[in-house]
Amino acid sequence: MTESYELLEPEKVAAYIDSRADLAARVDTSTLDVTEVGDGNLNLVFVCKDASGRGLVLKQALPYVRLVGPSWPFTPKRAVAEARAYEVHGRFAAEYLPEFYGFDEPRYILAMEDLTDHRVWRGALTDGERHDGAAADIGRYVARVAFHTSLFGIEAKAVKELAAAAISPELCEITEDLVLTEPFSGAERNWFQDELAAAAASLQTDELKARAGELKWAFMTRAEALIHGDLHTGSVMVRDGSTRAFDSEFTFYGPVAFDLALPWSNFIVTLARDAVLGRAEHGAWVETLFEELWDAFEAEFRSLWPGVVDPRVFNELYLERWLAQTQRDAAAFAATEAARRIVGLAHVPDLETLDVEPRAVAGRAVIETVKRLLLDRPDTAGEVRAIAREEVAR
Ligand code: ADP
Ligand code: MG
Ligand code: MG
Ligand code: MG
Repeated sequence: MTESYELLEPEKVAAYIDSRADLAARVDTSTLDVTEVGDGNLNLVFVCKDASGRGLVLKQALPYVRLVGPSWPFTPKRAVAEARAYEVHGRFAAEYLPEFYGFDEPRYILAMEDLTDHRVWRGALTDGERHDGAAADIGRYVARVAFHTSLFGIEAKAVKELAAAAISPELCEITEDLVLTEPFSGAERNWFQDELAAAAASLQTDELKARAGELKWAFMTRAEALIHGDLHTGSVMVRDGSTRAFDSEFTFYGPVAFDLALPWSNFIVTLARDAVLGRAEHGAWVETLFEELWDAFEAEFRSLWPGVVDPRVFNELYLERWLAQTQRDAAAFAATEAARRIVGLAHVPDLETLDVEPRAVAGRAVIETVKRLLLDRPDTAGEVRAIAREEVAR
């Protein structure tokens, strides 16, 4: 049943802020300018700025999927999950998040720092911009989450308590279906341009289905850490010297590799876009991001490792094996996420904004990369880069 609660509208936002003293202290509501900027698939987002330039952002979960409309009801409890992620991740990774100003649970409204002086990373990459260090920042963010919310960094009981509170069946089901199943099984709601029909069909082999099954199993059973869960480049804001991960409503206890995989999958898409646009210089830079992300993740994780809670069996040898498996799994999860951006329900502007012919060329290159990542089973970021490079250069 669709839940009912009052939805915000731009004209009502000033009064709403006045009703919350903590927020009212942050802006002058008598001069407030409010714009609804939500461009995502799910929620309402209001940027609120006063005449002196002070601002804040309100994000309200709708009781349905915005991309589809009220005919697809969807739990607004995802805002509870997002608030929890900001709160928990903020304890050890605050510099990589928007400052969190609090949560109105009955109306599913999150309040946070206004980041309009940043830009969404997806758009920046699509436009051919360089933001040096953003990939490394995200690697460090993922490492801190991986360590400080897992058995490595906190007591087993605390992990179990956090994990029990973070169960999000509806959100996880979206990923399980859209990312880890439907590109490989086919689905009514999949769509792709006509020119990609053969490429889409080529994903539906028994071997690739079994690989998707392997990854779906890992996603649904490997409760390692309180991961972000939706860390594609549309969930990261960048500005020179500042990188912030936001939109963590898909958070749950899952495999760390999944958070590394989503930015990687976007680098593959950006490489394909750069190749068809002839943006060789930008493409050469994007190629370096696979290793930049992984190397920063690994270095940060190793620097935290001396604090491991239970070193009796989580020894150096185990660390090496865990890192190796995480890197391999990131490559495979990246393939599933890239596949769904070409043939699944939710596509990305990086490719959809291209003309028909280059769009088909780029889409085919991504699908060929996906298949090699799943079938060749690369072990390292460098191998992922090399495969993507080869396939977009064909
Ligand atoms: P959804 O869950 O619907 O995808 P997001 O949290 O991704 O919602 O927000 C949608 C868009 O709103 C973002 O892509 C960004 O353009 C804008 N936005 C979200 N949070 C902020 C913020 N704190 N500051 C500025 N803009 C934001
Ligand atoms: Mg979003
Ligand atoms: Mg304001
Ligand atoms: Mg979202």
